[in-house]
Amino acid sequence: MPPTDIAIINPATGAELGRVPDCGAEEVNRAVDAARHCFATGQWRGRDGSEKERILLAIADGIDAQRQSLGELVSRETGKTLAEALGGDVDGAADAFRYYAGAVRRLTGETIPIDGNFLNYTLREPAGVVGAIVPWNFPLCIAAWKVAPALACGCAVVLKPSELTPLSAIRLAEIAREAGLPGGALEVVTGYGATAGEALARHMDVDKISFTGSPRTARRLLTASAESNLKPVSLELGGKSPNIVFADADLDAAARKALWGIFQNKGEVCTAGSRLLLEDSIHDAFLDTLIGRASRLRVGDPLDPKTQMGSQISTAQMERILGYVERAKQAGAQLRCGGHRVGETGCFVAPTIFSAVTPGMEIAREEVFGPVLSVLRFRDEEEAIAIANSTTYGLAAAVWTGNLRRAHRMAAALQAGVVWVTTYNGFDTATPFGGVKQSGFGRDLGAAALDQYTHLKSVWVAL
Ligand code: NAD
Repeated sequence: MPPTDIAIINPATGAELGRVPDCGAEEVNRAVDAARHCFATGQWRGRDGSEKERILLAIADGIDAQRQSLGELVSRETGKTLAEALGGDVDGAADAFRYYAGAVRRLTGETIPIDGNFLNYTLREPAGVVGAIVPWNFPLCIAAWKVAPALACGCAVVLKPSELTPLSAIRLAEIAREAGLPGGALEVVTGYGATAGEALARHMDVDKISFTGSPRTARRLLTASAESNLKPVSLELGGKSPNIVFADADLDAAARKALWGIFQNKGEVCTAGSRLLLEDSIHDAFLDTLIGRASRLRVGDPLDPKTQMGSQISTAQMERILGYVERAKQAGAQLRCGGHRVGETGCFVAPTIFSAVTPGMEIAREEVFGPVLSVLRFRDEEEAIAIANSTTYGLAAAVWTGNLRRAHRMAAALQAGVVWVTTYNGFDTATPFGGVKQSGFGRDLGAAALDQYTHLKSVWVAL
């Protein structure tokens, strides 16, 4: 039976952008077989490093050449503004291919002085066939964060984009083919998590799963690995990141970054600064400033250059967000702005701020994945750390202070994979990204990502 189709919808307008197949076991088998064939025959991994480097650079150039149309596509499939799609997704994806092109010829082992009359050295070998399962919020960029280092290591990749945003992933694979990547080195399987995703995660011939998405799906992937071939799984999951402002900080800079820390990409960011922790003495004035700025944000057509916040990804996501808002009100949090849908078409939600939030409330513990900020108070450094570390997540955290010693104390004490000091949402391909606690394990980006896609082989030579 041929697979059924999934309609891809522009969440800002409701228009259909295209249809893709909901791949099942048969289509996933075909993609994995093609990837395995490519890997086993050395069609990609066996190429000279300089040639691999050239092709990865050509993919980056191909992304740049289609910058505008790719940006529009990502904006249409996600509902984010064109500026966010261009600056976040498209430029981020091109940079990942460029950075990892440079890694191809730096994948070195070590010679290790060991006891006895031996020469010992390590070889860094490609992990094999990699299943990359990615979410909808940065569909092109997160795909590139996985595909580029995996290819740099000589792996073959089967990419499973979100069922909501597969079109940019399909375009990426076309660009890669045009750049000279051989068939099978990058296969794309579209479809739902329960069909295409599960088939990939349970496949006996997939050597590794690299995942970005929700903790709920992460649990299923670990089960799938345990019940199939024990493939290693790396997980980049959600967050409930604390953004902590002390009274001695540059408060204007802190307010500007706090605003975008939560409302960038309409709050659908895993590192969103969704918990703002304010020191008692500045709490009221800082909050007033933020409410004023949030209320003035322009929400609407993502392709209009004046728009600052686009549409949520889907009706279901919008309703989920508004459900959190209702329950937060009932729990005693004070709604200070937003909290409602904007317009009658599309999935737009007004920038929303709650004050009087306490650490035990649902709105302080769970990832909303929308434009909803929870504001909490603290008395001193000790209490700020206790509140910041009080969730099951540990992806990112930020601290604003003019006191250098406190900044370093906080950076050490915060349970997070990334800490920003007097900034927010800094990303760079060269520095590792990932979480601790239930925000996952393994790292994307930087040299650390190469560990995900290689094995170390220790070679002993008796002399
Ligand atoms: P999701 O877990 O529902 O889906 C992610 C991907 O997994 C999709 O491709 C989906 O089809 C697939 N999937 C779903 N069920 C599956 C299954 N049983 N087996 C295999 N694959 C399956 O997450 P989402 O709703 O697309 O994305 C939002 C989540 O992603 C949020 O929790 C967010 O914080 C997280 N996220 C994390 C990062 C990070 O780097 N830490 C980045 C972006 C998003």
